[in-house]
This record gives sequence, structure tokens and C-alpha cells, in this order.
Amino acid sequence: MRHLFCTEGEDALQAVMRLKPLLAFDFDGTLAPIVERPDDAHVPEAVSSSLMRLSELLPVAVITGRSVADVKPRLGFHPRYIVGNHGAEDPTLGPPSSASQALDAIRQRIELRADGLGRCGIEVEDKQFSIALHYRRAPDAGAALVCIEDLLQGTEPVKRFGGKFVVNVMAVGLPDKGDALATLVRREGAGGAVFVGDDVNDEAVFMRATPHWLTVRVGRDDPLSRAMFFLDSDKELVQVLERMLSLAVAS
Ligand SMILES: [Mg+2]
Repeated sequence: MRHLFCTEGEDALQAVMRLKPLLAFDFDGTLAPIVERPDDAHVPEAVSSSLMRLSELLPVAVITGRSVADVKPRLGFHPRYIVGNHGAEDPTLGPPSSASQALDAIRQRIELRADGLGRCGIEVEDKQFSIALHYRRAPDAGAALVCIEDLLQGTEPVKRFGGKFVVNVMAVGLPDKGDALATLVRREGAGGAVFVGDDVNDEAVFMRATPHWLTVRVGRDDPLSRAMFFLDSDKELVQVLERMLSLAVAS
């Protein structure tokens, strides 16, 4: 796992910045540190001010698992694009067809089992096009997962994927983060892309990367990650943004 701050990483960053790339970032755990209460998450001032300056030079996108409405006020800068719901919610494309109805059966079950889910420490976040079942604050993570399994048992087939103390469910066939980034690069006519993310749903981007994309994962805790380079923590992101800025200004 190569750290972005090695010689190859610097060379790759210089090469992609020459392409006038689209710069895309995940939100939680990447732009915003993971916090105990997800509702407290926001982009630190040092990060948002670097991004504000970068966005004057290059197209910047935030591609997040959160809904667009949720993430927008947490950014402190105005990216050109915000795509929510793990790639499925692109406001410029309109709502994905029947994405929300596919989850209605699960919504009904959640309502019926509200007490049991609460006892397991599961917090439900309905983001219209996807539902997140958080168990970060569950007293017993194993029991919470059994409870989630039981909830989803026998429902319509849905796309399920994990994350940091969360199980996400959404309709089958919706765009993922990799699809979303490819669409933005095409729409923008950008020569390349940089993407930084930290979680399971970001692997869709890492796997899809073309030779003109530079992909970076925050955290070296997943040996199977397909990211090209790694950072050790979100605290290193400011340095990356500042380096991008000086390369963007120079080119
Ligand atoms: Mg994340």
C-alpha cells in the first residue's frame, strides 16, 4: 500500500494535475472527520478554504452517501457538483426512476419493528433513495447486525453494502459512486479525475478508475482496497489539497 506522499505518488499527482482534472471527494471520513454523532460532521475550516480556492481553478465535486440536502450545509464551500445517496442522487439528472418505491416494503417493516430496532441500538436514516441502518452506538454490534439481517430477510431484492458501522440498502440498478464520477468527468469534459474516499462504497470508484484517474483512500486498514494510493488519516488531506493548489496554479 503506497502512501500518496512517496515519490510515485507525487509523480502521479503531478501527471493528473496536468490533465486539468475534475477533483472529487467523499464526505464522511474524507472531507469531514468521523464523529460520534453523524449530525455533528462538518468540513474543517482549513479543508474548506483550500477547496474554495481549488474550486476557482478546477471543477470540484462531492460524492457522498448522504443526501444532497444533508451534506450541502456541512461543506463551507460551493463545489460545482454534489452527488448524494452513494452516486444515485444527481440533482442535475433528476430523481432516479422508482428508486424510492423499491424501499417502501422495508420502510413498513422498520415502522413495525421500531421498538426492537431501538433496543438493538440501530438508528435508521431514510435518505429517500437509500436507507442507512447505523449501529455505531449499538451496545452489541454483533446483535445489531443480526437484528438488521432479520429486518431485511424476505424483502424484495435490494442492493446492500456495508460501511463504517452501517448497513446501506437501496434499489437494485442505481448508479454507484464510480458511475457518478464517470458521468461528471464526461459532462465536464475533464481530461482526468482525482478521487479521495475512505469506505466500502468508494471502492466502486477505485475499481472503475481509468489511467487518467488518480484514486486515494484515507486509511490503510483495508488490504483489499483497489485505491492507487493511501493516506494515513483525514488530517493529511489539507497537505494534499495545498499541493494540488500549487500544481494547479503552476500549470
Ligand atoms: Mg466516507
